[in-house]
Amino acid sequence: MNQELLLANLRNIPDFPIPGIQFKDVSTLFKNPACIKEMADEMEEYYKSKGITKVVGIESRGFVMGAILADRLDAGFVMCRKPGKLPGETKQQAYGKEYGKDIIEIHTDALDENDVVLIQDDLLATGGSAKAAIDLVKAFNVKKIYCNFIIELRCEGLKGREFIGDAAEIYSLLTID
Ligand code: AMP
Repeated sequence: MNQELLLANLRNIPDFPIPGIQFKDVSTLFKNPACIKEMADEMEEYYKSKGITKVVGIESRGFVMGAILADRLDAGFVMCRKPGKLPGETKQQAYGKEYGKDIIEIHTDALDENDVVLIQDDLLATGGSAKAAIDLVKAFNVKKIYCNFIIELRCEGLKGREFIGDAAEIYSLLTID
């Protein structure tokens, strides 16, 4: 994979959304067709023989590569959304993140026990949001859960991978120390 291409196109915004946070802005990857193709090709290659039946995207930056990947893998796409956005019956999970607290929801009929699930988000920091999504998905008794991130942050004592532990198999395209 051409990590240099992705790193060169990733924008860093200091002190967003609060002072002290180095925000990794993937919008500059998403607007570049060569970066979209590089990420999709890499993810497809990595996951194509794993029998993924559903890709779960975490709102909102997990929707972009999540939906592209679902198409590449001939899988369905499911949204994990902020509270009050999904119109059907939902279940929800609260979690803490690098900055602030939040809740995510999933439709109660989104998955079943025959699914092999890939959860996709742009970035792994503390692992709070991914673990909340994993807990929601796990409750459907699915066969296996994979987790994919464009970026895994390891700086400033962030240990998202350890926080998730063996609840899901993790693969990140870029690791930033
Ligand atoms: P966490 O739950 O702590 O792993 O945080 C990951 C979620 O928060 C992802 O959905 C990211 O989009 C967002 N996020 C947290 N920290 C950052 C950061 N430094 N730069 C960009 N996005 C971040």
